[in-house]
Amino acid sequence: MTATASDPRDKNVLLICPEFPYSYWSFKEPFRLLGIKTMNPPLGLLTVAALLPPNWNLRLVDENVRKITQADWDFCDMVMLTAMVVQEDEAAALIREAKQRGKTVVVGGPHASSVPKVMLDAGADIVVKGEAETAMAPLLKALDRGETGIIVEETHKPDMSLSPIPRWDLIDIWDYGNMSVQTSRGCPFDCEFCDIVSLFGRKPRYKTPEQFIAELETLYQLGHRGSVFICDDNFIGNKQNTKALLEALIPWMESRGKPFGFICQASVNLGQEPELVDLMTEACIGDVFIGIETPDEDSLRLTNKIQNIRIPMAENLDYLIRNGLSILGSFIVGLEGEKPGATQRLCSFVEEMDITIAMINLLTALPNTRLYERLNKEGRLKSVTKITDTQMGHMNLIPDRPEEEIVAEYFYAIDYLYEPSRLMARAYRNLMKLRPTRAALAKARGEEPKPMPVPRALPPLKRQIKDMKLVLTIFWRHGIAAKYRGQFWRQLINVRRKNPSRLRRYFIFLGYAESLYDFRRQAKQWKKLRGLET
Ligand code: SF4
Repeated sequence: MTATASDPRDKNVLLICPEFPYSYWSFKEPFRLLGIKTMNPPLGLLTVAALLPPNWNLRLVDENVRKITQADWDFCDMVMLTAMVVQEDEAAALIREAKQRGKTVVVGGPHASSVPKVMLDAGADIVVKGEAETAMAPLLKALDRGETGIIVEETHKPDMSLSPIPRWDLIDIWDYGNMSVQTSRGCPFDCEFCDIVSLFGRKPRYKTPEQFIAELETLYQLGHRGSVFICDDNFIGNKQNTKALLEALIPWMESRGKPFGFICQASVNLGQEPELVDLMTEACIGDVFIGIETPDEDSLRLTNKIQNIRIPMAENLDYLIRNGLSILGSFIVGLEGEKPGATQRLCSFVEEMDITIAMINLLTALPNTRLYERLNKEGRLKSVTKITDTQMGHMNLIPDRPEEEIVAEYFYAIDYLYEPSRLMARAYRNLMKLRPTRAALAKARGEEPKPMPVPRALPPLKRQIKDMKLVLTIFWRHGIAAKYRGQFWRQLINVRRKNPSRLRRYFIFLGYAESLYDFRRQAKQWKKLRGLET
């Protein structure tokens, strides 16, 4: 039976995040090992929830955690869903189902903002193009007037101080590997393949330090301890603002017993900012995701990734690792202007730089990017190829060298870089380079540990049991069952001897590695399907 709201304008809203297809971000088996259902919560949807009228009844289903039930459908009279480009099919299926069930359907998020017409054609009543903080008022008016078949467009980029604390209370935080926060939107760079600039602009907009801390405090009060992903596309887009956030974060972390460890995304020029690097490690940021793309300067120039050329990239990456930041590197195979053998150079670069976690992607033309526009004009877009098929070796563009050559190199890189023994050797070399933790360095200098207002926060028992299970699984898989178990034990003993404060990171690397081994197995299947198996 459909629930009835008391005021005719009140609504019972089902917020939905569709399931992600298989990708670097949605590994089922590693998640099972970690005792989680998925990695990151749907932060955009949680922010939208906080902007909706307080008298509306909300329920959130993240289909990466659980499926929608009959009770969920019965509860709602309106569905609001978000989608990224890779979730297009799942979102379209949900729109159709919701419409068949007689619900009002509103769609927003990055994909709706990029290609609103596609979501409208899928049957949505209202598609929102723009950011929720400013688009909410016109959306509510349109709903009040009962309008359907429309695009609510708000091109004004909102001040981030308007952004509310996300409604994390609508999810079970235990289902997720990380909690996510966003401190800024926009990026000052303009890489040709990236849609961030068209979505959020080139002038980064920041939340205030007070907002940032209030969000962390909310997560702390909800019981979260452990990993927090700062999901800004470029955390150092405006260095003054980043510094202000870090200067607020450091004392807050100390006042709460350092309950979180952070992962962020940043451009490689971070290696030119020793003060920021120092503040970041002091604030417990341990991992940085960096778009390295390729070591080939010609391709970087053609794709306008100038920040990776202006400075000696290898030197910068080396500086970051030696100063305590682990790098998750993202690479692209098939960039314009690429010469044959580019992937060999890419693999050698990853090995030389000891980048343990390297993500390999095929060049993809995303809607609303300068690359897409250019290739469209040149008649080089393949409309039949879905973006989700790209990782399986199907390019959605006609590249400037033979596609078979590029795709074969892409599969080669995955096979080569994720070979377990090679990946473990890289992890070990990385740990020998990574400087000890700040606490270990201070101890070595004979300094007394810095007093903290409260003792270091231990994770709740549930988390400690999960972590212990993960460590035991890693011991079993890598130290007993694996062919390379000798290497595992030798490396473990040497890390313990030579850089003991980084022993924990050895296990973190091996936890990440499970995902990459899984991807390598999957890629072998895709290669077969693509007819490239020899
Ligand atoms: S630096 Fe990163 S976020 Fe910024 S435009 Fe380039 S790819 Fe996009």
